[in-house]
Amino acid sequence: MLTNRINTLSESITIAVSTLAQELKAQGKDILSFSAGEPDFDTPQVIKDAAISAINSGFTKYTAVDGIPALKEAVAKKLKRDNGLEYAPNQIIVNNGAKHSLFNLFSATIDNGDEVIIPAPYWVTYPELVKYCGGKVVEIQTDDTTGFKITAQQLKNAITPKTKMLVLTTPSNPTGAIYSKEELTALAEVLKGTDILVASDEMYEKLTYEGEFTSTAAISDDMFKRTVTINGLSKSVAMTGWRFGYTAAYDTELIKATKKLQSQSTSNINTMTQYAAIPGLDGSADKDIAMMKTEFIKRRDEAVKLFNEVDGLSVLKPDGAFYLFVNIKEVSNDSLSFAKELLESKGVAVVPGVGFGSEGYFRFSFATGIATIREGIRRIDEFIQELK
Ligand code: PLP
Repeated sequence: MLTNRINTLSESITIAVSTLAQELKAQGKDILSFSAGEPDFDTPQVIKDAAISAINSGFTKYTAVDGIPALKEAVAKKLKRDNGLEYAPNQIIVNNGAKHSLFNLFSATIDNGDEVIIPAPYWVTYPELVKYCGGKVVEIQTDDTTGFKITAQQLKNAITPKTKMLVLTTPSNPTGAIYSKEELTALAEVLKGTDILVASDEMYEKLTYEGEFTSTAAISDDMFKRTVTINGLSKSVAMTGWRFGYTAAYDTELIKATKKLQSQSTSNINTMTQYAAIPGLDGSADKDIAMMKTEFIKRRDEAVKLFNEVDGLSVLKPDGAFYLFVNIKEVSNDSLSFAKELLESKGVAVVPGVGFGSEGYFRFSFATGIATIREGIRRIDEFIQELK
């Protein structure tokens, strides 16, 4: 009954673990979940107010498929102000979350057999969507010895005549790694003279703690032309449930193609969300973002310190996002069993590294209170010592 295409798709492992943890919690079990990919903060009031005002003003109807002009303008201004990128309204489309941006982008650009280079560990959704669109995933493995970043040489080795796209995530989910300007420049050198597109997922841009964030498209004119910038407000402004993301590209034909797909599938994104997103982009929520960032830094520093004190574990301090990618290679090379047993015996939910394409790690989200983090790591320590 089902298509081959849908059968290639796996369930999101992060959502699966979070759902299982919620179910166990609902059964009354003492569960601490570090699996969720969403901030534990509330959406800022200024954003809620904008949505309420939109509803009360009767902005409850269909809008332009690619977003209301005021929102697209806010996106363009944000990209100019924060990233030094100049996009016109016809180079921007607003989507139902960045996941939808990626789905539309891959659908519009990947043909059967096209190769898409994805550095591992990767966010779980990329390879699934690439496969769904008929593409072939070409992984480049990285590990903690290189800060989980690919080198120019690795990229060079992965390119074939069939390479259509490189997917970059900066800051990364699950590692928090951020590509510096120099590192991006080295990758850009390799791409020069090719037709390879770059999808740059910058979802965690505002959650940069160390170093400076640089947009991939800002590296050079050549990179501006080949890079499709994907971003949104889910993580930086705690708007996961509102469903807002955007795509910006030099190629207006590409934006037009994704608009066509969107017009025949979802139409415009939720109208109230469009009004609510404007203060999320124009600086009105900057105070809230700064508060969340300060809190994330505190949690990150505490969690990194505590994990590195556990005999058998090690972790790099992430430069951004709200995840730790913890190395368990000394104690296990089967992250799926490790995570299952940890959940069953200690009630601690983490996501196995294998789901992100890297065995021997787990992802620990620190988007939860510091007391929970301390207790979670205490239980993980207990679990590890019992394993030995
Ligand atoms: N990109 C990355 C790297 C993510 O981690 C996520 C969410 O987990 C998304 C995109 C999707 O975000 P959205 O909620 O806007 O669809």
